[in-house]
Amino acid sequence: MKLVIATNNQGKVREIKQILSPLGYEPVSLKDEGIDIEVVEDGDTFEENAHKKAKAVYDICRCPVIADDSGLEIDFLDGAPGIYSARYAGEGATDEQRINKILEELDGVDESMRGARFVCALYCILDDDTEYSVRGTLEGRIGTEPMGENGFGYDPIFMVDDDTSVAMLSAEEKNRISHRASAINQLAEILAKENR
Ligand code: IMP
Repeated sequence: MKLVIATNNQGKVREIKQILSPLGYEPVSLKDEGIDIEVVEDGDTFEENAHKKAKAVYDICRCPVIADDSGLEIDFLDGAPGIYSARYAGEGATDEQRINKILEELDGVDESMRGARFVCALYCILDDDTEYSVRGTLEGRIGTEPMGENGFGYDPIFMVDDDTSVAMLSAEEKNRISHRASAINQLAEILAKENR
């Protein structure tokens, strides 16, 4: 089944393609489909934003769509940046600027209080009557300096153990444990059960 991935974030497109392709789906990006759309993410939850993105693209292509809304929740910051993860250091800021802002906000905070999770809400619309919503998470903590070159976004400061950031994992290793992989695998299980 062809599934349009409703995102312009090429990091997400890459990961979703890597995880979905071996499961027998044909994931295609907005770019592949020639769809040029920027959806305003003004929902209060990851789920609301994922639904909004999926619906906007479904209304254009009228074909199976999945959308991801994801972000980083930091316990010490009461769940921030959360749904604002992509714009945390302002519109147009770089990943490096967002990472530096968080490292400054956690400056001097003890390791035991640096708990965090990546969250991924995935919304899938197959047709006018069939929609699914799933959520995956990855627990970890925020490091004290960026480490590793792989992945995207906040990966260099998200530690999965004492000395390993997500950006130090290979794509295959990240795709085995990530919030996005967990959500996609849940969705794939639902689709398989329903013979879709
Ligand atoms: P949005 O889902 O388009 O609102 O963007 C989510 C933002 O959260 C991304 O731009 C990244 O900054 C961050 N994010 C989401 N998933 C990941 C991930 O797997 N690694 C690192 N950062 C992520």
